[in-house]
Amino acid sequence: MKYVIYKLKNLSLIKYIINWGRICSMWPVHLTTACCSVEFAALSGPRYDPERFGWLAAVGSLRQSDVLLIEGTVTAKMAQRVRLIYDQMPEPKWVIAMGACAISGGLYAKDSYNVIQGIDDIVPVDVYIPGCPPRPETLFQGILMLRDKIMNEVIR
Ligand code: SF4
Repeated sequence: MKYVIYKLKNLSLIKYIINWGRICSMWPVHLTTACCSVEFAALSGPRYDPERFGWLAAVGSLRQSDVLLIEGTVTAKMAQRVRLIYDQMPEPKWVIAMGACAISGGLYAKDSYNVIQGIDDIVPVDVYIPGCPPRPETLFQGILMLRDKIMNEVIR
């Protein structure tokens, strides 16, 4: 029975409708640790209006969040909190790593004993947004890339 449901869900029209619903109501939770957050704040303003692409207000509740946006440096001490937040989010869920620090440790990749050298050691990352800091336009592009990825996903 499970197999039949799985097959039905992935018929192209049904899959399209379900994934379209997902990209039109992405509920982000953002984990801000450093300067990249200013760019995220800029994105959230009326100039960019990401809501027209289904990127809803980051309310900070994990109950309905399906996108985890990690901005800034993540230390070893914080890493377990990042994982806890990720684990508490309901399925399906996606992760965006914003900025050089989240992707690779950035400025602190060398000579730092406590900065994580890439958040993908802690949680699976779907979209990487490079830059130090990435401009809001780049973040916007990352959101569009995530939309494309979701549209092509197999329904879980
Ligand atoms: S990537 Fe650059 S702007 Fe972003 S948190 Fe790191 S140092 Fe700050």
